[in-house]
Amino acid sequence: MTAITNHMPTEELQALDAAHHMHPFTANGELADKGVRVITRAKGVYLTDSEGCEILDGMAGLWCVNIGYGRDELADIAARQMRELPYYNTFFQTTHVPAIALADKIAELTPGDLNHVFFAGSGSEANDTNIRMVRHYWALKGKPDKSIFISRKNAYHGSSVGSGSLGGMSAMHAQGGIPIPDIHHIEQPHWWAEGGESSPEDFGLTRARALEDAILELGEDRVAAFIAEPVQGAGGVIVPPETYWPEIQRICDKYEILLIADEVICGFGRTGNWFGSETMGIRPDIITIAKGLSSGYAPIAASVVSEEIAGVIASDEFNHGYTYSGHPVAAAVALENIRILEEEQIVDQVRVDTGPYLKEKWESLVDHPLVGEAKIVGMMASIALTPDKKTRAKFAADEGTVGLICREKSFANNLIMRHVGDRMVISPPLVISRSEIDLMIKRARLALDDCLEQITGDGLM
Ligand code: PMP
Repeated sequence: MTAITNHMPTEELQALDAAHHMHPFTANGELADKGVRVITRAKGVYLTDSEGCEILDGMAGLWCVNIGYGRDELADIAARQMRELPYYNTFFQTTHVPAIALADKIAELTPGDLNHVFFAGSGSEANDTNIRMVRHYWALKGKPDKSIFISRKNAYHGSSVGSGSLGGMSAMHAQGGIPIPDIHHIEQPHWWAEGGESSPEDFGLTRARALEDAILELGEDRVAAFIAEPVQGAGGVIVPPETYWPEIQRICDKYEILLIADEVICGFGRTGNWFGSETMGIRPDIITIAKGLSSGYAPIAASVVSEEIAGVIASDEFNHGYTYSGHPVAAAVALENIRILEEEQIVDQVRVDTGPYLKEKWESLVDHPLVGEAKIVGMMASIALTPDKKTRAKFAADEGTVGLICREKSFANNLIMRHVGDRMVISPPLVISRSEIDLMIKRARLALDDCLEQITGDGLM
């Protein structure tokens, strides 16, 4: 059998991919007909494909490559750790230095008294940990009926049975028998799509008070926790109105409901602070971290919990864990990633320099005829596409039709932008420079122009 390498013709790689590889969140039959793009290497903010095209990655992979591609330091650390101790578990009275050091570092970086780290391999797994740990916590406190999680429609918390249930994606709930019992979804603070005639401020309060209504309806003695992303990511980079989070915090405090901030995207600098909870001014009892923890160079995630929760959980055996919890190679890579984020002051740079620069450029896109609003926090941003900015109208086509066209035009202009319905989103590597931001915006405008031309031709505008 011939070896399958980067040097094979693209069509052969595409045919092999179509024959044996099932892609996540993809209609695989359709993809096979269309032909997949083969990414062969990456450096900084650029990907290269098998045809030699250089593509600016406006999504940092899946919101994760915060320090950019091609940092040899991480490869070196991984190789060193693999030689020294490639694997050991932390289940039965053992530990190892990478897990000790990473937990210590995370406890130092995370806000408040979030000082105890339970490792996992992915954000989905960490949120599954949260479901089991929170329910066990309340049971240990003599309140086993406090088992309901309140989450939000259009939230994303992962794809496993538990985390997919926490999430509020209706297309996911339509398949595979989720959500599991005792997960309750309230409406999201998405003013552009759902705010109607109310001001963003009033709407933010209304949507926060939906949490209070749900607690009162379900019973305070039944509700365990509220989970949310500080800024919804996969839902379309929905930045909540300023009134939203303070009211949510007040309600969680009043009813003794644990607040879980899912920081899988927002953590490690994405919003211009180390954690989105800091940007949004909230005090979570638990945070979920993944992605930027290792900049995607190795799969690793964690639930980071307060002194109170860790103390209660420590009083009993917690029958939960993963083979790769605290994997030494992934932990060593994450530590090196954090060292780079700190030493190169990448988070500060996003907050005071490149973030504000991107904000100015991104918000200027609202002068484009297709763009209704532009939202941005740090380096996660979205624009709403609309045929009528004043009325925030939808297109006369299925939701997502125009977004998909725009994504394809973006791809054709060598920029990775993602669409969520008819919103376009970006989340570039945090190391993106000013000149690379200029290029990203230029390509985004070309994509918008090309999209406008096509949908005008199609009679959608
Ligand atoms: N939570 C959030 C907020 C996410 O964005 C994601 C992934 N996009 C997850 C959880 C799930 O992480 P993973 O894909 O690593 O399981």
